[in-house]
Amino acid sequence: MPQPSFPAPADAEARRAVKPVICYPNETLPQPDVALYRAARQGASKVAEVLVPPRDAACFEVPAGHFFRISSVQGAQVGDLNLWNREDLNERFYSGKTRALHGTHITTGERMWTSFPMMRPMATIIADTLGWYGIDAFGGSVHDVIGTRCDPYTGNLLADSQYHHCCHSNLTRALADHLGLSLAEAERHVHDVLNVFMCTGFSRDTGQYFMKQSPVRPGDYLEFFAEIPLLGALSACPGGDCSAEHSSDTAACYPLLVEVFAPQEGVLAGWQSPERNGYDQSHGR
Ligand SMILES: [Zn+2]
Repeated sequence: MPQPSFPAPADAEARRAVKPVICYPNETLPQPDVALYRAARQGASKVAEVLVPPRDAACFEVPAGHFFRISSVQGAQVGDLNLWNREDLNERFYSGKTRALHGTHITTGERMWTSFPMMRPMATIIADTLGWYGIDAFGGSVHDVIGTRCDPYTGNLLADSQYHHCCHSNLTRALADHLGLSLAEAERHVHDVLNVFMCTGFSRDTGQYFMKQSPVRPGDYLEFFAEIPLLGALSACPGGDCSAEHSSDTAACYPLLVEVFAPQEGVLAGWQSPERNGYDQSHGR
């Protein structure tokens, strides 16, 4: 960390000792009916699947009220997930607000939220086989909303590289192919991700973003309920299990499986897709 330019005041320790307060206490956050979703998932049947190749990405679509599962297959692998409202790509996953509401990593019962002005839940996690991991001694945990996505611009900045299979580029190609967009059009829709299966945190001494070998093993999965109609894109990160490096072809990489499930008729009685946020957008005028 850079050295401070000014001396600490006499009461520095007292100021540091003030207890933090949680920015967004979530007692008033609308809670999902996870029991209802899980009951609906019981009799659901698989309607689609896509195998995401290593160092590449693929798109999938999930109707509102359906489920999708992301599974580790063949070997330890992390994935970078983008989600959009299938009917309006301007409404997309808002990593920063999800982090503010739920914390740095998300698990069962927590949700992925959409961008302003809609700001509503788009997907709710209903199962996480890595939920046992918790927070380790380094401050690391799984499925973060703190990383952005590996990208060729940062690689170029730090190492003068031209690497084309970072998650950012993989997601861009997959979205362009799926929607028939140019790369430039698709790229502006790619956004900060949910880092599926990735184990990350901030170092306690320097506050730097770190990654460590993912605890994921083949058979592990993360499962979601789609609150709105979703278009998803998942990249099997060139970092593999992220034990060493990313933004190169050196790590061992494996595919990721995405499966979509439809519930039986009538089992979601009482559930409805969330309304858009109720703020009136007059902004004081
Ligand atoms: Zn990546």
